[in-house]
Amino acid sequence: MMRKLLIPGVCAALLIVPAIVPNDYLMRLVNVGIIYAILAISLNFVLGYAGQISLGHAGFFGIGAYTAGILTHAGSGAMFWPVFVLAGVMAGLAGLIIGVPALRLKGHYLAFGTLGFGEIIRIVLYNWQEVTHGGDGIAAIPAPSLFGFQFDNDQRFFYLGLAFLGLVLVLARRTEKSKYGRSFAALRDSEMAAGTTGVNVTRIKILAFVISSVIAGCAGSLYAHLVGFISPDAFTFEVTAQVLSMVLLGGMGTTFGPVLGAGFITMLPEALRISKEYYQVIYGAGVAFAVVFLPYGILGFLRRRKAVKVPQLGENGAIEELAIDNPAIDLLRPRGGAEQSTDVMLSIENLTCRFGGLVAINDLSMQVRAGTIHALIGPNGAGKSTFINLVSGVYQRQEGVMRFAGKTLPATSSWNIAKAGIARTFQNLRSFHSLSVMDNVLVGCRGAKPASWSSVMIASSVAAQEEAELRATAEAALRFVGLWSMRDIQVSALPHEQQRMVEIARALALRPRMILLDEPAAGMNPTEVERLVVQVRKMKAIGLTVLIVEHNMPFVMKIADSITVLNFGKKIADGTPAQIQRDPEVIGAYLGKRAAAKDVKNAFA
Ligand code: ADP
Ligand code: MG
Repeated sequence: MMRKLLIPGVCAALLIVPAIVPNDYLMRLVNVGIIYAILAISLNFVLGYAGQISLGHAGFFGIGAYTAGILTHAGSGAMFWPVFVLAGVMAGLAGLIIGVPALRLKGHYLAFGTLGFGEIIRIVLYNWQEVTHGGDGIAAIPAPSLFGFQFDNDQRFFYLGLAFLGLVLVLARRTEKSKYGRSFAALRDSEMAAGTTGVNVTRIKILAFVISSVIAGCAGSLYAHLVGFISPDAFTFEVTAQVLSMVLLGGMGTTFGPVLGAGFITMLPEALRISKEYYQVIYGAGVAFAVVFLPYGILGFLRRRKAVKVPQLGENGAIEELAIDNPAIDLLRPRGGAEQSTDVMLSIENLTCRFGGLVAINDLSMQVRAGTIHALIGPNGAGKSTFINLVSGVYQRQEGVMRFAGKTLPATSSWNIAKAGIARTFQNLRSFHSLSVMDNVLVGCRGAKPASWSSVMIASSVAAQEEAELRATAEAALRFVGLWSMRDIQVSALPHEQQRMVEIARALALRPRMILLDEPAAGMNPTEVERLVVQVRKMKAIGLTVLIVEHNMPFVMKIADSITVLNFGKKIADGTPAQIQRDPEVIGAYLGKRAAAKDVKNAFA
């Protein structure tokens, strides 16, 4: 009830702001604050949502402002509208150009790259005299007008700025709550897992940069028309740093945090006016305080999660797992799998992978038959995880051929391999730790007819339908592993074994034809292992091919249809569990050459 009234209430209160702000100077400050809030939201798209550091934001802001300044100066205010759109487009193009190198750069390197971009823009603005008027800047930029109504003072401009801020907030909110927001968060939490979960990392990174820069460009246009004069000094690194501190202070990755931060930092100098000479000191100390004591910003602090008590599995009665005869299980059957039946699902020929001088996989050839549970075993360091990384496209293949479902798998990105029908889990957990259990699994879900970004933004029925479809699949996957009751818990709050089950559900949600499980039973107690046995058998029963890496020999011997043994990257044996247990080379690799018959029996049973 309170929440429902909150938004209309705030809106109504905002409408009377121009009437109560005492003077024009303060009103200007409010408008500048709005523009900075828009800029901070735009930075939050790349930094907060997608986790990509960008220190060139003043550059996009400047491109938008100069597009507006150059094209409208000494012209009519009605030109504001088309040029506003163009300002967004120009900045968006720059974002595209920056987004492409960002595909290769990470962390500090990306920070330096984008910092350089911002500097280049400023230098161009200074030196491209004929167009930008260099240091003199561009004056006489008209106030916007709409059907003859002039936004020619700060009281009037306020409504224009506010409308755009509202629009951008809606876009941010809808992005955050949609499959796009989940993909951004997946990228932020683990780029590797995002790729193997089918998120097109290239596209989603570029999308983040483009959305962000379009909004920044539009903010630049608003700024130019508000102030009426622009020069390169308004687009220095200082602006980027200020916007960055707004996002950090308000709460990175939240919807309203950047607005709150912008309000604080724009109004702070006013509040501290009495001690103007100390302003820089107080400002600096304040930002340092915020970063140290409010690592998730003001909103993050207010919303800090109360320590949730994670229920023990089965605490509230029996664990409900999806039974094989439940119709919902059809939602997890391999996508378009049944009709193209193949005998051999995965065929590997002469695969080799080197790390410097180390040969992790050495001329390996093997086959996994369709619809079977195939185990890959071998001592630590044998190359099992490397093999899974190669098949799932996390590592690029150096030599060899892989055929999947009868087709040659080109050396391609992990998300293309995921889309081809190969899903995986990780030996070292790679969950999307900041997301809920449900959202983790939703990242893996794909709709039959994917809704575009624009249809998600206008909240179309197509988008709603797709979301419902994704949620049904995610529910089936979570029920499959018995974690449905934990769906709203942040995944990082779960114990490791359960996070592993979330990874399995996330992989199943892709509806793959083949699933690669890298030591799924590690750290599990015997009851949990029993449940895993049932689940892996159920995967086979619904038509998946399972490749499982496991150290727990009794477990392997119980469920595997066939086994491949690796040692030092080489295949040393291939066969049924019974054959493997008798193989002298396998016994030698595991137990030493002179192992007694009794030890052999104990090791495998
Ligand atoms: P397993 O999963 O069978 O225990 P791995 O596949 O993880 O073994 O490792 C096989 C060998 O390759 C090990 O010697 C390991 O140190 C090495 N290795 C694996 N990944 C990398 C990497 N990214 N860089 C360098 N060496 C690696
Ligand atoms: Mg391993």
